[in-house]
Amino acid sequence: MVDVIVIGAGIAGLSAAALLAKAGFEVAVFEKSQFLGGRATTLNMNDYLIDFGSHICPSGQESDVCKVIQFVGAREVKVYPFEDMLIYFKEKLKKESQMIGSGAPKKAVDRVYSEISTMTFEQTEALDNVTFKNWIEERVDNEEAKEFFFIHSYIMTSLGDPNEQSAGCVIRRFQDWIRSGIRAGYPEGGFISFSNSLAERIEALGGKIYRSTSIKKVIVENKEVKKIIYGKENKEVSSKIIISSLPVWENFKLIPEDEFPVWFVKRVRYLEDESYFAGIGLVAGLNEPLYTEKAYISVLDTPINHTTLQLWQPSNFTRSIVPPGKHLLTGGQIVEPYHSMTRKKMNFLAKNSINEILELFPDYDWEKNCDWFQNPVLPKRLIDGVHRRPYQVWKAKPDVVSPLKNLYFCGDTVKGTGCGIDAPVRSAKLAVNAILRKS
Ligand SMILES: Cc1cc2nc3c(=O)[nH]c(=O)nc-3n(C[C@H](O)[C@H](O)[C@H](O)COP(=O)(O)OP(=O)(O)OC[C@H]3O[C@@H](n4cnc5c(N)ncnc54)[C@H](O)[C@@H]3O)c2cc1C
Repeated sequence: MVDVIVIGAGIAGLSAAALLAKAGFEVAVFEKSQFLGGRATTLNMNDYLIDFGSHICPSGQESDVCKVIQFVGAREVKVYPFEDMLIYFKEKLKKESQMIGSGAPKKAVDRVYSEISTMTFEQTEALDNVTFKNWIEERVDNEEAKEFFFIHSYIMTSLGDPNEQSAGCVIRRFQDWIRSGIRAGYPEGGFISFSNSLAERIEALGGKIYRSTSIKKVIVENKEVKKIIYGKENKEVSSKIIISSLPVWENFKLIPEDEFPVWFVKRVRYLEDESYFAGIGLVAGLNEPLYTEKAYISVLDTPINHTTLQLWQPSNFTRSIVPPGKHLLTGGQIVEPYHSMTRKKMNFLAKNSINEILELFPDYDWEKNCDWFQNPVLPKRLIDGVHRRPYQVWKAKPDVVSPLKNLYFCGDTVKGTGCGIDAPVRSAKLAVNAILRKS
């Protein structure tokens, strides 16, 4: 018997486990993969440390994961801030700081910034179901200023169409930017550093982390979770509390659907159907950098796939992730809902992705300077992950307190505001608060 079992050692599961271990609970974390970090892990490929996603840390050192790390007394992870953004705008690569100039567009941007920075949480919440496009069009006439905001909302949400973005969610993200003064950053050693730091602390506080150990079943009795069955030998362990950090619909693989109320199952299945987006991952090892700024490149409409592209060189921030003298280019494209994506189509788009990068940077000598491009037929790299659309509208996501007694959820598919890894970490805090309030 342990106090708390955590299913999954991604950024959410590890945050929840570390916070509870610090509060004196005996925690056991089970992770099916040999790696920690889930979708925010870092893998060694050709001696380069490569993030599984196109990872950029929202709010840099002010991000929620850094705050959790500090709060639980874990080893600090240095996060190097972005200095600018390079935006592919009107067929030219421009620095964000130069996009708007000083005239009417700048005035319009400043006016909206000042409105955003004084809004309360409740005021932003009231805009959750309004599209960002409508919100901007109601208050901005200047076309350049509008474009500025739409480019930024895409950067924050990875959704290229402001008609698909929730104004409330985008505004809260702008507020994080404005209030912290930090757009984003990149951690020393890659994203895995966050998970390693949290895991070390969990173990130092007496918690256990079982790697390569899949949970197969959660046993429920009278609508209350009791124990788990795990590992190849189907071992079992009881627990007072279980926190699942799986994408919420994956819980139905461990607990039969009919244990949950019908409304809950419907809601979760709806999210699953509506939310998956496939991302094409792109990774290249370079001998010469493509650019030198501590910045990432955003392209709103790419020449071939006609989608968005985020491309950047994490090695401009820290050399800890590349072999001496080398550079790393990485990026991702959001293509279309995961469910309609076939492997054949994925291969086709992935090849296009590479061609469009070559097209966007015709002056770079790819033949001479590019050591290798990620093999686009490697499925793990191809389906570089998923972007979950409901994070745009956090209220659409299920609560962290599940309908079953003593079962809690955390992760980016349950409640937790913010974008990127802020959302799963905030959900972990909500779950931990709910547990502490009850105990
Ligand atoms: C391509 C891509 C790019 C992204 N880019 C960014 C970015 O630039 N910036 C940013 O902040 N965020 C980004 N994100 C989002 C971020 O990676 C995720 O929001 C975050 O990692 C989700 O964390 P999580 O803990 O909720 O879930 P996960 O990381 O999915 O964690 C769940 C864990 O549970 C484990 N698991 C599953 N089943 C079992 C089982 N039966 N037993 C035990 N363990 C199990 C999994 O292996 C996994 O480790 C990106 C995501 C993707 C996919």
